Amino acid sequence: MTEPKHTLVWNNCLNIIRDIIRPQSYRTWFEPVKAVRISGAVLTIEVPSNFFREYLEEHYIDLISKALKRELGKEAKLEYNVRVVTGEDVVTFPQQPTQEIKNKSVPFPNQAGNITNPFVIPGLQQLEIDPQLNPHYSFDNFIEGECNRLARSAGLNISANPGKGTFNPLFLYGGSGLGKTHLAQAIGISIKKQFPEKIVLYVSANRFQTQYMDATTVKNKLTDFLHFYQLIDVLIIDDVHEFAGKPGTQNAFFHIFSHLHSMGKQLILTSDKAPVDLQDLEMRLLSRFKWGLLAELLPPDYSTRVEILKAKSYKDGITLPEEVTNYIASRVSTNIREIEGTLISLLAQSTLTNRKINLDLAESLIEKLVTKNKPEISIDRIQKLVCEYFRIDPQHFLSASRKRELVQARQISMYLSRNLTKSSLASIGTQTGGRDHATVLHAYNTVCDLLDTDRSFRKYVVDIEKQLKSS
Ligand code: ADP
Ligand code: MG
Repeated sequence: MTEPKHTLVWNNCLNIIRDIIRPQSYRTWFEPVKAVRISGAVLTIEVPSNFFREYLEEHYIDLISKALKRELGKEAKLEYNVRVVTGEDVVTFPQQPTQEIKNKSVPFPNQAGNITNPFVIPGLQQLEIDPQLNPHYSFDNFIEGECNRLARSAGLNISANPGKGTFNPLFLYGGSGLGKTHLAQAIGISIKKQFPEKIVLYVSANRFQTQYMDATTVKNKLTDFLHFYQLIDVLIIDDVHEFAGKPGTQNAFFHIFSHLHSMGKQLILTSDKAPVDLQDLEMRLLSRFKWGLLAELLPPDYSTRVEILKAKSYKDGITLPEEVTNYIASRVSTNIREIEGTLISLLAQSTLTNRKINLDLAESLIEKLVTKNKPEISIDRIQKLVCEYFRIDPQHFLSASRKRELVQARQISMYLSRNLTKSSLASIGTQTGGRDHATVLHAYNTVCDLLDTDRSFRKYVVDIEKQLKSS
């Protein structure tokens, strides 16, 4: 049986490449590659991951290109398919730009040509608004866990009924790197898929603010600005805490919000704090934020961290040894952005130093990362230490029991959480067995009083705080 042409051509290239590069590099970077197709002078090869493709491009493209031109002439071109392993299946997709998500064009009351909104694709009589959605932030890529279950399911619900349900606005809040932007975008993408005629727009609060400022400097532009936003069916504003202390922007946003809400349009807002903890925002806005559903994104629990590591490494075509996954999941716990960062560093280290990904490599990498920036003090850690200090069972600690020593331990832990972490009162409460922000505030004030009046109590708190800061 003769080999198909693409295999012959690629094998000839490999013969050349093998003689030139180190055997170890050849095994790492060329053995996993398969030729899949040839069409004219274009050879398509399949690579295990995007990371892999980028590495080939960066280090070997000249070499491959020379070898290929020898085989196919000056016109020779190389294309990639990236293989993605999803559970049992192997899915391949061509490395083409992901399909753009678009809005239909809409008539604009004023002259469309003059509007200087950055989201408007110029040159059209009618407006075409770029939805500003990033296809990578889809629900498919969003791992479900205890930490995001409510927010995710609210998001799915809204995607199926934008503007119709009671979840309007959807207010997503939580610390940095916990998936607010990803989830808000996923909702937008999913709505576009199910309701292509809806006009969706994602905008960061900062960008909204800049646009508003620009609009105020030119006559009549403010009306355009307001009209523009009133055209939107699904408006996603990311990081609304940035509106703090900017009354003009808040006022403009208030009018847009009210208009859209009354027309049954969907609003999705994200913030690093719950509305009760937001400062320097107008009451009328805060109260409207609470009209719909407030959903908090919490730091990922251990099993979600493991799932995220697995999913992200699969996507890069790599299966991490289980001990490595577990090790990273136990050491990097603050947020998902950090988990991703650690994984990328690990892949890069292994590629660049030609070392296999194993526990040694992961440990040495994390040692470096951890000594560089000490892990942030998390509510988790505070609770663990408080429980150890008072010899309390963590389950009792989180329970509803009002036993004196439990109440005191919880109060100390909530006090320290407020002082030593960036978490909101509401978030501290949720993570302390589902208590509300008023309970946390009360605990905080109680501890402050006791610190002034009770010396042995003061010693407990100081001791625990010292341990937290030194470990
Ligand atoms: P935030 O907006 O809350 O600061 P992001 O949405 O930017 O956080 O998330 C930080 C990173 O973590 C992004 O790359 C995002 O894709 C990823 N991420 C967050 N949550 C998840 C999740 N549940 N599953 C997979 N990836 C996630
Ligand atoms: Mg964000």
